[in-house]
Amino acid sequence: MKRFLALTLAVLMLFSLVACNQTEEPAETTAAPADTTLEQTTPATEPPVTDCAHTYTETVTEKAKALKDGSKTLTCSACGDTKTEAIPATKTLKVLAIGNSFSQDATEYLWDIAKDGGVEKIIIGNLYIGGCALDKHYSNIKANSGAYKYYKNTNGRWTETANVSVLKGLQDEEWDIVTVQQASGSSGVATSYAPLAKILEFLAENEPNADVYWHLTWAYQQNSTHSSFPTYGKDQMKMYDAILKAYDSKVKVQESIVGTIPSGTAVQNLRSSYIGDTITRDGYHMSYDYGRYTVALTWFAYLTGGDVDKVDWLPKNYATVLQDHLPAMREAVKGALAKPFEVTKVTAAKPASFPTATESMTDGEIFTSLGLNIADYEALDWLLEVQAYYNSKNQIGIYNAQTSSASNVPNFIASKLLTKAELPVGSVIIVDSGYQYRPEGWVSETSKTSPRPGNVTTAAVQVTEAWWGNYTIRAFNLSAVATKVMTDEDVVHLRIYVPKK
Ligand SMILES: [Zn+2]
Repeated sequence: MKRFLALTLAVLMLFSLVACNQTEEPAETTAAPADTTLEQTTPATEPPVTDCAHTYTETVTEKAKALKDGSKTLTCSACGDTKTEAIPATKTLKVLAIGNSFSQDATEYLWDIAKDGGVEKIIIGNLYIGGCALDKHYSNIKANSGAYKYYKNTNGRWTETANVSVLKGLQDEEWDIVTVQQASGSSGVATSYAPLAKILEFLAENEPNADVYWHLTWAYQQNSTHSSFPTYGKDQMKMYDAILKAYDSKVKVQESIVGTIPSGTAVQNLRSSYIGDTITRDGYHMSYDYGRYTVALTWFAYLTGGDVDKVDWLPKNYATVLQDHLPAMREAVKGALAKPFEVTKVTAAKPASFPTATESMTDGEIFTSLGLNIADYEALDWLLEVQAYYNSKNQIGIYNAQTSSASNVPNFIASKLLTKAELPVGSVIIVDSGYQYRPEGWVSETSKTSPRPGNVTTAAVQVTEAWWGNYTIRAFNLSAVATKVMTDEDVVHLRIYVPKK
């Protein structure tokens, strides 16, 4: 390599000698970052004597990212002298997703994570249609159809605009990055990628300065009931492999795609950790805690070149759930960046209190996995009222058909109000897949809560001192993740066990 470089330089000098009168070897003008020996053996002397005034033309060799310097090569058109200069990191992330609920999962926490990671100007957009696939995106583009809900975040808060077209979304900002993805059900079906080339042509024409990235989405949870899961034999790894295969044959070949965000691999990596295959909220959408956080961290790291170890922002509603698990999530992301198209097992140690429940376990097995014996516990009769809920942003009070005209009242089941004596530390809360509960909390009977605790889909949670925090009263709203009217039969999907006295 070194010998070849020296030869190249010699030839270069030969051609430039007449024009530039160079008499010394232009050691420092080489673009050879790996070749440090050359510089060490040549003492730092005067710059080479040259009569050339140098007229440089620039070639970008690596574009700068928000948090990572790029580089450019300057070449003198007169003497051929070359040098390499850094392009400073832009500190700016302006990304528009053309997607669906999976891009929503990916971007929900991205603004805050990017901010915490050191990006100064952040604009995130998501052109959303639930379940939208490439063929539908393309037919919408052709028809200039205002079929999208356009989510946008410029300051840490999301706004929502209805009836936006792809063109209008593109024109809304000077985007640096536009992302494209396939709908999850078709993500491993190569033939469904046919419209991609046309979409890319449209983007090149209408947002020529933006870099287009592919969003590699994730496979379903192994117990998912998604109607497209049988396409993959209801097998998670088969689906992941199919996604990679479709990517290889249909996406990698597209020259205008400059990079691929390996979300699907980060998810698969995290599933290999002690957290396990419990990071969706309904078998396919990311859970609000581990799932969404890990995917957003992947977008952050890949798109900005930033360091995931420098991010410790957590969404307020899930901070207590997530705080002990940053090492595992970071490891999953780093593994995906290093090896975007294969699973890297996450080895982060399991925090002592972490439950390892999976959906196929019985409650007894869940207890065993927690190092507990279900015989030491008794089920708590928690039910207060079917088709009712609380809202701890307000003072304690039940919302039901008698007290509220809210149309969503039938979608919930409300528990009794519970004190710490009734639900002591050590109690275990188990919720079935497809269901979630919001563990409302009040510091006192007359207080309001801000922020309100988020919905929880984690299969088993053991009550700790941190879980209680400052609250003196807690209550649960049980609901289905995919909104539905709740009936008496749904009561069984939440089970609360308290230690026997
Ligand atoms: Zn020159």
